[in-house]
Amino acid sequence: MVATVIYHKKVSIDQIGGQPGGGSPLLGEPLAIEFANTRYAVRGRFREGIDTPDHLTAWLRDHSPAPGPGLLVDAAEVETFRALREAIRGLCQACVDARSGDGKHVEVLNAAAAAAAQWPQLRCAGSAYAVSEHTRGNGADTALAAIARDAIGILGGPLRNQIRACQAPGCVLFFVKDHPRRRWCSAGCGNRARAARHYQRHRATVP
Ligand SMILES: [Zn+2]
Repeated sequence: MVATVIYHKKVSIDQIGGQPGGGSPLLGEPLAIEFANTRYAVRGRFREGIDTPDHLTAWLRDHSPAPGPGLLVDAAEVETFRALREAIRGLCQACVDARSGDGKHVEVLNAAAAAAAQWPQLRCAGSAYAVSEHTRGNGADTALAAIARDAIGILGGPLRNQIRACQAPGCVLFFVKDHPRRRWCSAGCGNRARAARHYQRHRATVP
C-alpha cells in the first residue's frame, strides 16, 4: 500500500511553492523517518521544514515525541534538531547505498539519544498495573532523545534493510518499505515517475 503524501498543517504544494520553510510532508512513516523528511523538495528544489522555532514546535507537538505542555524551542535548538536530522538522513542514505555510515553521524545520533534519560514507572491501577514513562529532561531534550532512540531502533534492527530513498524525479524523501511492491514514498511520486518514464519512451521513439 503506497502512502498518500500530505503536507504538515494541510499546506498544499502550491501554497508552499513560493515560501521556503514549514509544510513538511506527512507520510505516516516511523517517527525518525518522518523527521528525516522535514528536509524535502518541491519540484526538485530543497525546502526546509523546520526553518524557525515555530515550525519545529508545531512539528514536535503534532508528532508527540514529547507530549505535554511547556514545549518551547529556541533558535539554538532548531540547529540541534537539524544536526540530528542530517545525521539520520546520512545514516539512512548509507543504508540505501549498502555502505557503512559516517562515524560523526553516529556520534550526533548517540549524543541526541542521551539528551534526556527516560525510565518506566509502575503504578497500581485497580487489580492491574499501569506503566508510564518519566524523564527529568525538558520538552525539547525529551523530544530530541525520542527521535534519536527511534532512529537507533530502526538503524540497529531489521527495518534498516527496508529503508528506501524515493526514486521519483526530484524527490529526496526516505520511507520504510512496508509492502513488497512499494517503490515510491507516495502515490503522487509513483504517478510522476510513471509519467516521466512514459515521456522518455515517447521521446525515444519520435525521430
Ligand atoms: Zn517521493
